[in-house]
Amino acid sequence: MITGRATQLQGLYDVVVAGGGPAGLAAALGAREQGVERILVLDREREAGGILWQCIHAGFGLHHFKEELTGPEYAQRYLEQVLEKEIDVLTDTFVADIDRDRRLKLMTGREGIRVIEAKSVVLAMGARERTRGAVRIPGTRPAGVMTAGFAQKVVNLHGYLPGRKVVILGSGDIGLIMARRLTLEGIEVAGVFEIMPHANGLSRNIVQCLHDFDIPLYLSHTVAEIHGRERVEKVTVAPVDERMRPIPEKAWDIECDTLLLSIGLIPENELSRQLGVRLDPVTNGPIVSSGMETTMDGVFAGGNVVHIHDLVDFVSQESLLAGRNAGLYVTGNRPPADNIRLSPGENVAYCVPHTISSERPHTIYLRVRRPLEKCSIRFGTVLEKKLSYVFPAEMVTLTVQPKFLENFHGDALSVDVVAR
Ligand SMILES: Cc1cc2nc3c(=O)[nH]c(=O)nc-3n(C[C@H](O)[C@H](O)[C@H](O)COP(=O)(O)OP(=O)(O)OC[C@H]3O[C@@H](n4cnc5c(N)ncnc54)[C@H](O)[C@@H]3O)c2cc1C
Repeated sequence: MITGRATQLQGLYDVVVAGGGPAGLAAALGAREQGVERILVLDREREAGGILWQCIHAGFGLHHFKEELTGPEYAQRYLEQVLEKEIDVLTDTFVADIDRDRRLKLMTGREGIRVIEAKSVVLAMGARERTRGAVRIPGTRPAGVMTAGFAQKVVNLHGYLPGRKVVILGSGDIGLIMARRLTLEGIEVAGVFEIMPHANGLSRNIVQCLHDFDIPLYLSHTVAEIHGRERVEKVTVAPVDERMRPIPEKAWDIECDTLLLSIGLIPENELSRQLGVRLDPVTNGPIVSSGMETTMDGVFAGGNVVHIHDLVDFVSQESLLAGRNAGLYVTGNRPPADNIRLSPGENVAYCVPHTISSERPHTIYLRVRRPLEKCSIRFGTVLEKKLSYVFPAEMVTLTVQPKFLENFHGDALSVDVVAR
């Protein structure tokens, strides 16, 4: 394992990247592409690479490297490029605060508290998992209730088993991957319980992690109660009605010692909030332009801090753009401002970026609210593309060319995903 170039902190940088996961590393490379000199990536962990180190399964890099890599392999490739480009990476460094003058207060292992200045900042702090408190599951508060990502860290990085018999609440990708991982470690996985009528993970993970291992998936079901004094002893599970309330007469108990929660990620935006950038209430991430610039001048963002991605390849692609634009900001070569706002319409939860320009091609990322087969994505009346299916768990990615916008004269373009 290699990490980035160690550095002695300077007082002023051209581009400072908060967070050294795949988003932060790609952003740093993007800034370097623009010829920016002093670039610094900061991460609170001992190694840059973010969540990838604990993802030892394959499935990363299919789009970007056209190969199936594990998370650590993907991180390693990026770290090697960062090292080659002589970008400074300072780990064991927590970004405690960023102010409007782009001064960053750092808590570092080596130098204590330091304040540095940046001409441009990229926010790349990733996301954290939702916990039991977010869904308020009734019952006692024993040990053995944990997030799926925490269990992944414990198993894959520290070599401990989280329990012997596990129930998983939520069908997010981390939970699905852990269902397979724990089964391979000899732990019994009693089932995955999903409150929605559809799964929340990628189809490939449903097949490869549940079907291939005969692990049952219960849709429209939830964990209605947790039992146990010191440690989880059992959970009560139940189907839910149309208002998602458990139906007590149909409930049953499952003896287990562990409950894993895979109920979604929340973009880690405490720093963004302190800084005052505007957040999208749907994504919980910053509102961004087509250059991934937030509503604060010179502050850019990329990766899970903006919206939750299913594939790391898109994190890298989007954050490379954020870094390139942070670089252009520093060199004074920023592209003309956007002139079209994207407005999520029928069956569209959100679109990123929030604004685009009619002059340049753009990759648009969006999520739908409900699954549909044989449908079309429509950008107002100027562009329609057929899709064979859409699924809330799978991000839709689409490139819009400027030629389609030639005949559009409004300022807001509605984006709809409708049945054909
Ligand atoms: C369990 C799991 C399984 C996955 N499986 C796949 C898969 O099979 N295929 C795939 O393509 N993708 C997968 N992904 C998705 C992919 O890993 C993520 O989309 C990607 O890691 C997000 O990158 P990021 O840089 O935005 O965030 P992260 O990887 O979370 O990195 C954020 C970094 O910011 C740092 N940070 C945060 N706040 C601060 C601060 N204040 N100061 C300093 N540092 C800070 C953190 O320490 C962290 O290193 C998986 C994700 C998870 C969680």
